[in-house]
Order: sequence, then C-alpha cells, then structure tokens
Amino acid sequence: MSFCTICGRVAWNKSDFCRYHKEALDGLQSSYELWRKASELSWDEYIEKLCQIDETGRWVLDVAEQIRSGDGLSTPT
Ligand SMILES: [Zn+2]
Repeated sequence: MSFCTICGRVAWNKSDFCRYHKEALDGLQSSYELWRKASELSWDEYIEKLCQIDETGRWVLDVAEQIRSGDGLSTPT
C-alpha cells in the first residue's frame, strides 16, 4: 500500500496521491490546457501563478506547492 506524498493519506488508484490531491492534480492539469491556449504561460509559470492567487483551493494549492518544491512531478509534455 502506498500513501499520498503530500498528506500521507492512503493513495488513490495507484497514484502518488490520495483521492483529494489526485483530483486536484487532474483539475490543475486540465485547466493548464485551457490556460495554454489563451496565453504563453509555461507549466512552471502557471504553477507559480496558482500559488500566488487567492482563488486557488486548498487541495490544488497543496499540489502546486509540491510541484514547485522541485520534484518535477506530472509535468505535461
Ligand atoms: Zn493527499
């Protein structure tokens, strides 16, 4: 059994995250696809922006900060 790398809950569906953080990551990646169509933001810039704006939800913020902290997980190609 594996555990969420962020919060330590039991991991969801063989991912590295619990259900909540996995859903946050999926949402984050799909909204990046929309962002990328509208602007030239890179993935890193997008993550940085998410960490700065107030509207970012708690779960998404956890994931964004995990990505920003440098293990490079789940960067879309
Ligand atoms: Zn978690």
